Amino acid sequence: MRARAARAPRSTTDGAVVSALSAARSEGSTRRRIGVMGGTFDPIHHGHLVAASEVQRVFDLDEVVFVPTGQPWHKTPVSESEHRYLMTVIATASNPRFTTSRVDIDRGGVTYTVDTLRDLAAQHPDADLFFISGADAIAQIITWKDLDELWALAHFVAVTRPGHQLSVTGLPQGDVSVLEVPALAISSTDCRARVRHGAPVWYLVPDGVVQYISKHRLYRSEA
Ligand code: ATP
Ligand code: MG
Repeated sequence: MRARAARAPRSTTDGAVVSALSAARSEGSTRRRIGVMGGTFDPIHHGHLVAASEVQRVFDLDEVVFVPTGQPWHKTPVSESEHRYLMTVIATASNPRFTTSRVDIDRGGVTYTVDTLRDLAAQHPDADLFFISGADAIAQIITWKDLDELWALAHFVAVTRPGHQLSVTGLPQGDVSVLEVPALAISSTDCRARVRHGAPVWYLVPDGVVQYISKHRLYRSEA
């Protein structure tokens, strides 16, 4: 079920969902509910995983698909797509509700959320999509361009992120829920800097990702 009427996102104080409409699975509905978590994942860390897990629980999602972005052509370089994809597979492998998609990597180039959602909607015509994003990213993703199509393709869930206040007034009115998730002040930027300086990233990223970074000698030098 999807609330189509324009309404401002609202916050919670206790982590409960604001938008009961979107959180509830409509009675008798056989449609699957799929969360979509896009990101550079360079590397994926426990902040991403906790946020996805919390949205999965509160929104009663059948699955959360992690979608590593394509390789930007001329922006700040990110690690090779295959490294980011494989780290995401490793990090999500143990959760039966988490999967990883190659749609953005295989399309290549700069990733636009509208393309991600179009591709996933085509792959899952029987599902309602819930696009999950951190407070810092949501305002950039939900631009007025393609807004109507974005609303039609997915419900948007903005998760709070330490250090990034979500300005409710800064968002266009629409189908957005705001969810407070357990605060993990972890960022990929900090993880990369720690590796570069020889500091450990154990417990910030999954163990398999620590080992992958070490095996492939990622983040050893300034990119
Ligand atoms: P970078 O520092 O390289 O920008 P990042 O840690 O922000 O990396 P991204 O891959 O850019 O990670 O983020 C993917 C999505 O996860 C974004 O929507 C972002 O807002 C969200 N996110 C990232 N870190 C957290 C966190 N600690 N808690 C909640 N959401 C997060
Ligand atoms: Mg980021």
